[in-house]
Formats: sequence, structure tokens, C-alpha cells
Amino acid sequence: MKSYGRQSISEADVAAVVATLKSDFLTQGPKVAEFEAALCKQTKASHAVAVNSATSALHVACLALGIQEGSLGWTVSNTFVASANALRMCGADVDFVDIDATTGNLCITALKAKLAAAKAQNILPDVVIPVHFAGQSCDMAAIRALSDTYGFAIIEDASHALGGHYQGEPVGSCRYSDISVVSFHPVKMITTAEGGAALTQNESLAKAMRAFASHGINREGPEGETPAPWQYYQHTLGYNYRMPDVLAALGTSQISRLDDWVARRNTLAKRYDTAFKESLITPLAVAEECISSYHIYVVRLPAAKRLACFEQLKSRGIGVQVHYIPVHSQPYYQARGKWQLPNTQAYYESCLTLPLYPELTEAEQDEIIAILQEVIASL
Ligand SMILES: *Cc1c(COP(=O)(O)O)cnc(C)c1O
Repeated sequence: MKSYGRQSISEADVAAVVATLKSDFLTQGPKVAEFEAALCKQTKASHAVAVNSATSALHVACLALGIQEGSLGWTVSNTFVASANALRMCGADVDFVDIDATTGNLCITALKAKLAAAKAQNILPDVVIPVHFAGQSCDMAAIRALSDTYGFAIIEDASHALGGHYQGEPVGSCRYSDISVVSFHPVKMITTAEGGAALTQNESLAKAMRAFASHGINREGPEGETPAPWQYYQHTLGYNYRMPDVLAALGTSQISRLDDWVARRNTLAKRYDTAFKESLITPLAVAEECISSYHIYVVRLPAAKRLACFEQLKSRGIGVQVHYIPVHSQPYYQARGKWQLPNTQAYYESCLTLPLYPELTEAEQDEIIAILQEVIASL
């Protein structure tokens, strides 16, 4: 079975992990700082906090921004549950903004309208979490302009988009946001098995996130106190979200190949786009100002054909997937509110993710294209 995405592991990756396993530090050694420096170099963020998952990164990002019980966060429903759950983990309420069905990304028009309505009712959000769906950045300049008007913080959920570009800048630079979060799960752009990072240009946010990811502890005591050499201070309630050195070594080795992988994914995506021209198969649109990382390759099909397509492709060894079941339709969120998100729903009923990863060959891709076209024609 070809899955919709998969990791690439080289001998150099294996050697980096083995060398760290044989070193003095399996965790809390020098490898995490090396990986964080590589992430800063890649994204142009000035601070990177590597943690054990993007979910943890989203959680400490929300905590550092002061999100708590009584806070309100907005995100999209076309995402993995973690984008919304991080808000709930802080005790905040969650609301969902509709998407643009042609890109799968947060719809700026819907956001504008929702903000105007929320202002009238005095229930503006404290934070908005746009998700860079499939690897394409949201329109961050527009979101930032709205944040300047309405006063909300911005966390980019860039779990899909490491290696992508927006207005010529790498995703993760935080040019228009407070914090960006990336994921290193094996299906994502680079992997540390499990892992994630929070990126920022803001030193005090970086410090706060680092503390929340490590028990709320650091070495900074009260003014004027001379600490003993063994002293540490717990200032707040934190978690153990640290990334081990063994996995950070894998991340540093992986990130050296990221740009090549993004180029390869773009080449394969163009081949899909070309093959699907003038057919019932519609690829997601990518804006002029974006270079997608192409974490996933999504098409839209006539909704009536989607289920049969999914089943027939699976039965022929092609591991298609659906991204995403709308978060607001999950039982947990259904118990918390009612939402009308027509574009999200229409998108969900028609979307299908096709296999795309750096090691997919042209011959394999041609076979996937041929089978999909044959299945669509037969329905
Ligand atoms: C994968 C993903 C996450 C969670 O990442 P983990 O590293 O698995 O915790 C969060 N948001 C989005 C959009 C994702 O795709």
C-alpha cells in the first residue's frame, strides 16, 4: 500500500541518531540547541523552542500568550484536532472561522465579517490560529492587518508548511505573527519521529514557552539574590514537553534536505496538476505570493464520487486519505456548540488526498494518475 505521505530516512540520519545514543546526553545535551539553531536559520525566526510534538508547541504558545480560562480563541475547522485542542487545554473557548474551499485555508472575508460581528457583541477573540493547509501559507498580511485593528494575538499553525514561502519569506519567520508552530511527525515535512517547535521573534515569549515546556522552571531567581550553584526556580506550573537529544539529532540531519524535498514535492505536484487539467479532478489553488511546501496533495472531486473513489483506490493499493474531518463535527466539539461553516462542509465532502512524498517516483505517480482517472470515468 502506498500511503499518502511518508518519511525519508538516510544513512546519515541513522548515523546521527546512533552517535547521539552513544554520547553522554540522550536528552538535555547539545543536540537540541543545534536543531533549534538550524530551525532559526531555515525560517529566519530569531528563537526556536523544540518540544516533543506540535501539539505541545501549540499548548505552550497559547500559555505564553496568556490564554486561560475565560479566553477565546478562533481557528479553522479544516485542520487536525490539535489546533483547537490547544486552546481547550488552556481552558479557553473555541470558535471556528470558515475556509476558502478552493485553498482549504482560512477565508479572510469570513474572518472580517466574523470580527465585525464579534466586536458589535463585545466577544472578540484573544488569539486567532490560522492553519497553513497542505503547506500553503494563509494570507498573513491580511490577518495581521485585522489583528492590528481588533487586537488579537496570532499563532500560525505551520505544522504542514515548514519549507514553504509567503511573499518571498520562509514560513515560520513570524513576520506577521507572534508565534509559528511546526510539526515533525513522520508524515510532515521533516521528522523527529514525534516532535514539534514553536518559533518567534519575541524573546520574552520564547523564554516563557521554554519554561512552560520544562516544568515552569528556569535559573532566574529574585532580583539581588545570589543563587547557589545548584539553584533552580519554579515560577509557574509547567509540563515536561522537552525534545530528547536523540531525536533532535535526527531533526538536524533531516532539515539539511528540506529544500530539496520541497522542490521535489513541487515538481510532483505540477505533474499531478497537469494531468488533471480539464477533468473532474480539481487541485487546490495556490496563490501567486505562496510557494507551498506541499505537505499533502489534495484534489476536489464531485462529492457523489468521493466515497467510491476512496474505496476503489484503497483496494488497488493507493493509500488516499481525507484531510480533514471538520473539527467542529467531532463529538467533543458538537457538545460545546453549533457552527454553520458551509465552505468547510462543501470542501470536506469533495476532498481527497493523493500520495505525495519525495521518494515517490514518476512511474508510481503515473500509475496513480491512470488509476484515479479510470475510477472516476467508471463512476
Ligand atoms: C500534525 C498536526 C498537528 C499536530 O502535530 P503533532 O506533532 O502530531 O502534535 C497540529 N496541527 C496540524 C494542522 C497538524 O497537521
